[in-house]
Amino acid sequence: MTGATTTYVTARGERTPSVEHGDHAGRESARGAPGAATPLLVLWDIDGTLIDNGGVSKEAYALTFNRLTGRPPEHPIVPAGRTDPAVLRMMLRQHGIEATPDVMKQAVDVLNRVFESLMSRLAERGHVKLGAQSAIAALAGRGDVVQSVLTGNTRHNAQVKVSVFGLAGALDYEVGAYGSDTEVRAGLVPVARTKATAKYGISFPPAPTVLIGDTPRDIKAGRASGAFAVGVATGEYGVEELAAVGADAVLPDLRDSSAVVGAVLGARRDRPGRPTDETG
Ligand SMILES: [Mg+2]
Repeated sequence: MTGATTTYVTARGERTPSVEHGDHAGRESARGAPGAATPLLVLWDIDGTLIDNGGVSKEAYALTFNRLTGRPPEHPIVPAGRTDPAVLRMMLRQHGIEATPDVMKQAVDVLNRVFESLMSRLAERGHVKLGAQSAIAALAGRGDVVQSVLTGNTRHNAQVKVSVFGLAGALDYEVGAYGSDTEVRAGLVPVARTKATAKYGISFPPAPTVLIGDTPRDIKAGRASGAFAVGVATGEYGVEELAAVGADAVLPDLRDSSAVVGAVLGARRDRPGRPTDETG
């Protein structure tokens, strides 16, 4: 629905102009909705949640390490929800290499170039998670939702992954939060809220911000910033593990779009004003 103006229903049942989505999404329409309910800011994790990268991400980290140091990594690579810079920093430290700011900048630049060179491999080996496309479309169809991504990937690599699998349509990259914005995943939710507020001219408070992800790190990052955290057991962690770290809702996968919408709307229903959980 790129460029299309939609409407959403306010708390008083009025239909008002709402936000637009896509690359040309503008701030003017959102500003013209006095008294309207704040749209939900829904932030999708990418790897393990929307797509399976088929091991290409780990391959990209290994190739990057090799180009930087002239040797392959000797330790297993365990992303586990870490940001791209955090994974690279961990790899460097494991091999006794000091991750100075200059080294880190170079490492991230190399990773972006490596990832671009692996696009066709990503398309071959990776796949979209079942239901991801429909779930995004179902939320986009409501009109009271702004959707973007919250991911440990750099913005460059996030856009590569999402576009390779045709998921970009209803996602507003401009308000996304990326590993290139901040290395610590828990810091990403405020980044997205700030961008969304700047773009649409309306405030996006912690609730109703919704984070959808597949790892305990996603859930903890959401809780730490006061967001409503929806776990999906589409990656390496099960329903019980995601629930145990405090997910507000957990789904086995994304195949039931109405269940996804229902879980997301729990942010209005169940936690309209939850305080920040600093212990998350
Ligand atoms: Mg993930």
